[in-house]
Amino acid sequence: MNFFANMPRDPFADDPNDPASFLEDDEQMAPLTPEERVAISNDLRLVQEFARVLRPRGVEGVFFICEDCTEEHYYEWEIMAANMRATLNDELAPVHEPGARPDPSRYVTWDYAMGYLDGVSQR
Ligand SMILES: [Zn+2]
Repeated sequence: MNFFANMPRDPFADDPNDPASFLEDDEQMAPLTPEERVAISNDLRLVQEFARVLRPRGVEGVFFICEDCTEEHYYEWEIMAANMRATLNDELAPVHEPGARPDPSRYVTWDYAMGYLDGVSQR
């Protein structure tokens, strides 16, 4: 499961009857389903594990190829965790917020981090 691939798209984005438009705060997004909540909670735990085992190896975060702009986005562990906590609190996660000049060699893919964690936990 991958947090950003799993980001709920707003199905009402262009819908004038968007139920969310009745909310005062248009930063609000559609509430998470219980399944999404569980998935993101799991991912949040994973991110904390990744940071614990990978930061000592010089890995500062993960990068994704973004489906929206087809560029790579880099996220430090703390930013990932903060985004997930915001999402769990039904706040808008700043997915496109750029990191401060990331060093690409210090970022890995989510799959790499998963594989690394598997290797560590089997030792
Ligand atoms: Zn993007």
